[in-house]
Amino acid sequence: MKTRQSHRFIGITILAVCFIMFSMTGFCQQENVTAKGRFAKPAIVPHSEWEAKPPGGFPADGRRANIAPSEKIEFKDLTLELIKVTPADAETTGALDEVVIRLTRSSKTEEKTLKEGSAFNWEGFHIAILAARTTRRELGSGLTEFEICTVDSIPREIAESKIAGDATYRARIPHTITMITLHHMGSPRIMTLEDDPAEKLRGLQEWGANDRNWWDVCYHFLIWLDGTIYEGRDYHYIGDTNTKYNPRGHFLISVMGNYNRQEPSEAQINAITDLMAWAVREFNVPLDKIYGHCDLSETSCPGRYLRPYLEDGTFIKGIKERLNIK
Ligand SMILES: [Zn+2]
Repeated sequence: MKTRQSHRFIGITILAVCFIMFSMTGFCQQENVTAKGRFAKPAIVPHSEWEAKPPGGFPADGRRANIAPSEKIEFKDLTLELIKVTPADAETTGALDEVVIRLTRSSKTEEKTLKEGSAFNWEGFHIAILAARTTRRELGSGLTEFEICTVDSIPREIAESKIAGDATYRARIPHTITMITLHHMGSPRIMTLEDDPAEKLRGLQEWGANDRNWWDVCYHFLIWLDGTIYEGRDYHYIGDTNTKYNPRGHFLISVMGNYNRQEPSEAQINAITDLMAWAVREFNVPLDKIYGHCDLSETSCPGRYLRPYLEDGTFIKGIKERLNIK
């Protein structure tokens, strides 16, 4: 008897939830049709379908940034200035680069000398020195990578850690999308349809974790040569970069391959436009807030064969058509 009653209760609950969901979808569709056309969200291959392992990290209130000596990171009422970086002695195995920083919060100032890979707490902030890129030819050369979180927002074992740790220690920092940036993967060699996109994505995730200390691939969506859109990092969280711009608020779209050396396909251009149109509608991104990475940092990204589409208004025209914007 008890079981039958609970079955009935579950049944009624499911019916009620379905009804609420149905009414909500109805409202959304109506709003989209009347205000912004019939354009539908493009099909996206979920992260779970290509990954070998799920993303790492933990949600936190923080800021990650790459800076050069004499530059600063501002986070809430904290200022971190990088004073000096001393490269490790190349002759000594296991030797670490050393950084000197100055921390300032209201009237308190302190200078600290630390090794890369270390972490500490100061005035309610957990500060990790992820890496100092001192080798001339390495990606991000000349920049030192920091992650700063409020101690209150992170798990206790991370707050107590004296090491910056690997990708599992990294902060997933929530944000609100306000703009769109187009990138390319900039792979060392061009990609072709013979390649397996899922393998390339797993490679990017693995490299990002090992070499860059990223908790997931750095982009929110990635587009394969045939226009298939893959889900990257959860777009509710800030992406990552090897350059200096702050990716907070950016919806990061990356085209797989190297577009300094290969031409985008028509299917890719369509997929980029579909994704941009969806983001414009979903997050109310103004049309003048759509950038190429090269507009924000010293880089050739998204490559010389993709940049013309940003510059000649191809994407904007396609977005307007899809969303019925005059
Ligand atoms: Zn880029």
